[in-house]
Amino acid sequence: MFLRYKGKAWEEKFLPRLTSHEIRDLDKEDALVVLSIGAVEQHGAHLPVMTDSLIGESTLTDVFEKLDASANIWMLPPISYGKSNEHLGLPGTISLSAETLSGLVMDIAKSLKESGFRRLLLFNTHGGNTDLLLVVAREIRIVTDLMVFFISPGSLNAASDLLSEKELEDGIHGGAYETSIVKSIKPCWVHDDLATSEFPDLTGLQYLTVEGKIRFAWKMTDISRSGIAGDATIATAQMGATIQERISDMLADAFVEMASFEITQIVNP
Ligand SMILES: [Zn+2]
Repeated sequence: MFLRYKGKAWEEKFLPRLTSHEIRDLDKEDALVVLSIGAVEQHGAHLPVMTDSLIGESTLTDVFEKLDASANIWMLPPISYGKSNEHLGLPGTISLSAETLSGLVMDIAKSLKESGFRRLLLFNTHGGNTDLLLVVAREIRIVTDLMVFFISPGSLNAASDLLSEKELEDGIHGGAYETSIVKSIKPCWVHDDLATSEFPDLTGLQYLTVEGKIRFAWKMTDISRSGIAGDATIATAQMGATIQERISDMLADAFVEMASFEITQIVNP
């Protein structure tokens, strides 16, 4: 019994399930190819190290369920590993170097270009990948002439009315947000009894933040003893399901916009 690859994203819109001839014959003008990039890294005592990649795959599965069958939008096999060297040394963390990840994504983009595609979405679910992938996105644009899009679904403010300001700002790793989502998609992978709450102590700092506008570089052990930043004890599957529902609604529309967008349309004639 082979249970992997279920749902529209994996059964119908999974690009490598097609044959070479089928891919040759696809209309490439408005085809959008989605590359999910996650991470395998420690997420405290209560969450699986696959948390970020799991969230990415689950989100895309939801988004593809909401897309019209006729949508010319295709999913690539996800890159499960990311740049996670801020967590290295904490067991279970498997990190690609910045050079490896950028080379991998660039090679995939060049290959898509050779197949005739024009549009690539970098779909990122690990905060530590963001800066690098934005640099790579621009490099791909320059080197291949592909139109490149970038989303970190975690930054879409889908939980702004569900979580405290403190949680939204500093609950960046293994806190209520991620724990709720994993509880909603794979509850048996969450160890509720080991969920804790820990935030970096920023008292006395007027300007410096962990992820804000004025910040310091950090590795995980600089900001946390437990390996998490946030309050995992308040996480619920219900909240996770609400967040995923909102995000997949938004993304289903955004994907369609990407598939029709032309980079030439934004320069004044
Ligand atoms: Zn995470």
